[in-house]
Amino acid sequence: MSTVAEMIAFDRNHIWHPYSALGGDQPLYTVRSAAGVRLTLGDGREVIDGISSWWCAIHGYNVPQLNAALEEQITAFSHVMFGGLTHAPAVELAQLLLELTPQPLQSVFFADSGSVAVEVALKMAIQYWHARGELQKQRFITLRRGYHGDTFGAMSVSDPDTGMHTIFQHSLLKQIFIPAPVTPFGEIPPATELAPLQQRLEEEGGRVAAVIVEPIVQGAGGMRFYSAGYLQQLRTLCDHFGVLLIHDEIATGFGRTGKMFASEHAAIAPDIMTVGKALTGGVMTLAATLTTEEVSSTLSSGTPGLFMHGPTFMANPLATAVALASTRLLVASPWQQRVAEIERGLKQGLAGCATLPGVAEVRVLGAIGVVELSTAVDLRWIQPRLVAAGVWIRPFGRLVYLMPPYIISAEDLRALTHAVSEVIAEMVEYTQEP
Ligand SMILES: *Cc1c(COP(=O)(O)O)cnc(C)c1O
Repeated sequence: MSTVAEMIAFDRNHIWHPYSALGGDQPLYTVRSAAGVRLTLGDGREVIDGISSWWCAIHGYNVPQLNAALEEQITAFSHVMFGGLTHAPAVELAQLLLELTPQPLQSVFFADSGSVAVEVALKMAIQYWHARGELQKQRFITLRRGYHGDTFGAMSVSDPDTGMHTIFQHSLLKQIFIPAPVTPFGEIPPATELAPLQQRLEEEGGRVAAVIVEPIVQGAGGMRFYSAGYLQQLRTLCDHFGVLLIHDEIATGFGRTGKMFASEHAAIAPDIMTVGKALTGGVMTLAATLTTEEVSSTLSSGTPGLFMHGPTFMANPLATAVALASTRLLVASPWQQRVAEIERGLKQGLAGCATLPGVAEVRVLGAIGVVELSTAVDLRWIQPRLVAAGVWIRPFGRLVYLMPPYIISAEDLRALTHAVSEVIAEMVEYTQEP
C-alpha cells in the first residue's frame, strides 16, 4: 500500500474530484476510517464531520444497523437486473417512501444518483404531456440560484451563472428562468413576488411541461431559505395554468429542514418529487423519482405506453436494502427533537459570527447553518485551518455552511461551531488587513 504522500501525489495528477482541476493545489486528505460523527485522516488526526458528506450521512458513520442490512443483503444477492425481476428491498423501500411522502405520490422510479432522478423527473413530465397529445409542452420553468445536478437536463434547469451555462450554451436546452424567491422562511410573500412567474406562464404556459424547484432551501446554488407561502402560490399557479410541479427534495428530504420533506412546510404536494442524498444514510448511491397516480397512469396509457428510461443498476439490492434500513432507523429515532436541538445549537454557536466584519449574514433552518461572507472564501487558506481546528466542512463561494449528522452530541456540536467561528474570525481579520 502506498504512503499517504504517494497516494495524494498520484491522485492530484490522475483523479478528478468534484468541481476540481487535475494537477491543482487544493488541499487533499486521505481518510482511514469513519465512525459516529468523526473521520480519521491518514495522518491519524480526527475531525468532526460538520457536513454529513454533503447532506447524506444523517446517522453518522459505521452505523451497526446499516452495516447489518448490507451484510444480510450481500449473503442473499448483491445485484440483479431490474428488467423483469424485482426483490423485497425495492418493494419494501417503495412502500415506506410512499407512506412518508405526500399522499398523492403513488409510484417510485429508482435511479442511481440525484442528477439521474432529476433527468427522470423532466422526462416523465414531457412524456405525461405527450400522452395527453400536448406535444409542444417540453420546456421547464425554474428559479435562479437553483441547483438540480450536473447532467445536461439537470444542468439546463440549474442557475446559469453558477452552472457556467455560457460554456455549454450551444448544447444546453434553453429553459425559462425566473428570479429566486426573496421572502425569507417564516414570512409571508407579497403576491407580487410570483408576478414574473405568472407573466411567463401567461406568455408561454402552453409550451411548459413543468416548473421545477428545490422547496424551502435552495442548496448548492446559494444555501438560501425561502417562504412556504411562495410554494403555496406556486402550486396554485401551476394548477391554474396546467403545468406540472416538480419538487427536488434531494437535499431537503429526510428531516434536514425540520420536516420529513420540505414540501410539508407548505402543506402541499408536488406532481413529481425527487429524493436522494440522505436516502441511504450516505452509505451507497441511490435516488428516486416519485409521481402521482395521475402522472404515472396517464404516461403509461400514452404512446409508446412505456416510460423511456432504465438504468443498468436500477434499484440495486444493496442500495435499496441500506436505504430501507436507514429510513426505518430515521423514522424510529427522535429525529424531530434532534433536528430542533441542532437548530438551537447552530443558532447559539454561530451567533457570534453575525457581528464580525466581512460576514454578511448568519442563517439557520433545521439542521442547516450558514455563514454568508461578503467575499469568496479561499479554500486553500481555510481548509487546512478547519482541519487543524478538528472539523471537516467544505465552504464554497461566499458560504461556510454546516449540516451535521443528526446524531451529533451537544458537546460535539459546540466544538464544531466554536472551531468554525474561530477560523472565520481569523479569516476575516486576515482578509480585512490592508
Ligand atoms: C445534490 C443535488 C442534486 C444532484 O444529486 P447527485 O447525486 O449529486 O447527482 C440534485 N438536486 C439537488 C437539490 C441536490 O442537492
